[in-house]
Amino acid sequence: MPGRTRVCGVNKVNNDIELSIVCPFYNEQDNVAEFFKRLFPVLESLSCTYEIVCIDDGSTDETLKSLLEVKQTEPVLKIISLSRNFGKESALSAGLDFSVGNRIIPIDADLQDPPEVIPELVEEANKGFDVVLAKRIDRDSDTVSKRFSAGLFYKFHNMISRTKLPENCGDFRLINRSVANAIASLPENQRFMKGVFTWVGFKVSSIDYTREKRSGGVGKFGAWKLWNLALDGITSFSTAPLRVWSYIGLLIAGLTFTYGSIILIKTLIYGVDVPGYASLLLSILFLGGIQLISIGILGEYIGRVYLEVKSRPKYIVASEN
Ligand code: UDP
Ligand code: MG
Repeated sequence: MPGRTRVCGVNKVNNDIELSIVCPFYNEQDNVAEFFKRLFPVLESLSCTYEIVCIDDGSTDETLKSLLEVKQTEPVLKIISLSRNFGKESALSAGLDFSVGNRIIPIDADLQDPPEVIPELVEEANKGFDVVLAKRIDRDSDTVSKRFSAGLFYKFHNMISRTKLPENCGDFRLINRSVANAIASLPENQRFMKGVFTWVGFKVSSIDYTREKRSGGVGKFGAWKLWNLALDGITSFSTAPLRVWSYIGLLIAGLTFTYGSIILIKTLIYGVDVPGYASLLLSILFLGGIQLISIGILGEYIGRVYLEVKSRPKYIVASEN
């Protein structure tokens, strides 16, 4: 699809698109107009060819209709409509697959990632970086509990995984074509994009920005969804939760041996000591709990292996406009 160049206000049609903006939309009807009102002036100021890839992630409101209306006057829009709600990670994958620009910037539709930061990302990339992260310098727009749980997640994830996620960075960043191609070549279907972006490597820099409040509508990530996203992240990039059970088992076996030896010696010296109900019950319950946790963690990984081997596509496209 041809891109549009505006150099010093002159429109040109060019097949070589320099910048792709990738934006997932899920029930964002309240934000569509405002989003483009702020995005277009920024892109125009960049004097480069660009396209805007909008992924309608199975919205049930008027999001798709609003996007199609914008496209009538702005042909640079590519609207990919998914057959149902596949989740932000899949919507982003679709956006990367359909974008053709030399540089790609995923951005949220709710204006929490201010479009005005885009020129700074481009400027930093011009210094020779393949990836430029947009780092949130303050998360005042997030609730205290979200900030706390996010902090905890990053600390825990980075402690047990070799893929170190940059703290306070979302999906808002600039990546160049080599990075996007590397991501596209990964065969996995269950993608935790923040991890995947980091895992592929390349030359990374970052700039700071202030995360704004949601412009309209409601956030789609409640506590349960965030918890599951955190589990996806941890199980996608670390096998430490699987391996830790061997060590816990060894430790418990060691303690049991020591305690058993003490009881044996005491029995040999002092004879049979009948009371022991409490310690017996406690050790059975404790070990039962430990075993259930370890089986649950095994289950988490097996569930993900199961989803991967089914090799279902990451998303299904219902229509392209
Ligand atoms: N989103 C999506 N599919 C979903 C949930 C969210 O495409 O299932 C989009 C949403 O429309 C928005 C972006 O992902 O553009 C971020 O969502 P949200 O603002 O709810 O997340 P938060 O800012 O709370 O992390
Ligand atoms: Mg948001």
